[in-house]
Amino acid sequence: MQKILNFIGGEMRAPVSGRYFETDDPAVGAPYALVPDSGAEDLELAVAAAKKAFPAWRDTPAAGRAKALRNLADMIEKNRAGFARAECIDNGRPVAACTAVNIMRGSANLRFFADEAVRFSGEKFKTEKIESYTLPQPLGVVATISPWNLPMLLFTWKFAPALAAGNCVIAKPSEVTPMTAYMLANLANDAGIPGGVFNVLHGKGANIGAAITAHPDIPAISFTGGTVTGTTIYAAAARQLKKVSLELGGKNPTVVFNDADLDKTAEGAIAAGFSNQGQICLCGSRLLVQEGIYEDFKKAFIARAKEIKIGDPLLEETQHGPMVSKAHMEKVLDYIGLAQREGGKVLTGGKRCIVDGRCKGGWFIEPTIIEGLPMECRANQEEIFGPVVTIMPFKTEDEAVALANGVEYGLAASVWTEDRAKADRVAAKIESGIVWQNCWNARDLRTPFGGVKKSGVGREGGRRALEFFTEEKTISRIA
Ligand code: NDP
Repeated sequence: MQKILNFIGGEMRAPVSGRYFETDDPAVGAPYALVPDSGAEDLELAVAAAKKAFPAWRDTPAAGRAKALRNLADMIEKNRAGFARAECIDNGRPVAACTAVNIMRGSANLRFFADEAVRFSGEKFKTEKIESYTLPQPLGVVATISPWNLPMLLFTWKFAPALAAGNCVIAKPSEVTPMTAYMLANLANDAGIPGGVFNVLHGKGANIGAAITAHPDIPAISFTGGTVTGTTIYAAAARQLKKVSLELGGKNPTVVFNDADLDKTAEGAIAAGFSNQGQICLCGSRLLVQEGIYEDFKKAFIARAKEIKIGDPLLEETQHGPMVSKAHMEKVLDYIGLAQREGGKVLTGGKRCIVDGRCKGGWFIEPTIIEGLPMECRANQEEIFGPVVTIMPFKTEDEAVALANGVEYGLAASVWTEDRAKADRVAAKIESGIVWQNCWNARDLRTPFGGVKKSGVGREGGRRALEFFTEEKTISRIA
């Protein structure tokens, strides 16, 4: 079985303890690689290497840091097929989507933050008497902790701005999907990233993740993951007054008005509901449809869900792969059972499905649509994070807004209507960090990204990410 290694000080290193655990290929339902079970000793090595590398990296001109990030992007693109295959085996996302989204967004993230590194600068202020300017300065050794659902995309999204701003990084990918982070670390030296600047530690959240959070020489943590984990990290970080950025869960509404373009909206709602088997924080898992088109829309939505091609994720034509792990599949199936006990009617899907051949042991769940649930039930309140969409009617604009806002989360929403003024009114009233109008997941990397309520604290994206990874110093003199 392939053994993954940590990357510390520019070298591949086995965990000090010598302990590994297995990681699975969810499409076949069996282990395929060994992952370091890193702990505090590995973290000490990484922090020492990062501290040593920091002064030179901080003092490297932005253009030099940008060049290293662009080199890494070039190398990813050159081996995009290898990265996509690895991500597909590790995570289960179909290979075509892995290539187009996970891997190519990975390299796009690096290129984007390479550009930001060069653009980023302080501000100038002047009164009649005083002139001032600010110097944004990197923090030192910072940590990024990322989840399993979009491994390469989120891993790069977090460490690239940290490096761009002149920090050294300790990056912890999810224990469930470590492979592409390992492959990327293998390229770092050749990309021209000096040893110690970029370190990757694999292992379990409760061990290495918690050790990173508690380490006194790591002043900032950028975290993407579940709300429960985020809350634990926030509390631990508070004890040392660390800077924390938290991108957490969602229970996002897709709001469809009577005047929406039915075909375009049904297509968009399918992408919102079922992309990556519903395992995207931005997925629209609550479909709210105005009563005038409710029945027609429901029919169109169900028909499209039934057409989604479930299968071996390594085949180009597959649109719907397995859930990331057996435990996660079981959690999602439990929620489907719960939704039925809460009064929901399964309109399509609702079960584990068996894919013939190589994938017969895989952890697949059918795209599932459930109707008839009240907004306050658990299935409509808690993040299921699977291919499960609940559908419910509404009468008025005010009711739509109330239903959209009737959860503890507030990450993203989409609003579908041909009436621009209504789209703007509703977008302004929905409690979430992002609202899409007649589209879903259209991303301009310069725009702020993040949630309100239990979906997070802070904003990523564009210069905001570099602001997080720097402290501004103000310098003033009498004019
Ligand atoms: P988790 O919160 O379980 O894990 C996220 C990361 O945190 C993993 O690397 C995990 O390690 C690590 N971790 C776990 N426990 C600790 C701890 N005590 N201290 C430090 N680190 C820890 O999330 P999932 O991986 O299950 O990802 C799914 C969640 O992520 C969903 O809720 C989803 O909505 C959210 N998400 C949010 C996004 C956003 O931008 N708002 C984007 C994508 C996902 P390990 O894997 O080893 O347990």
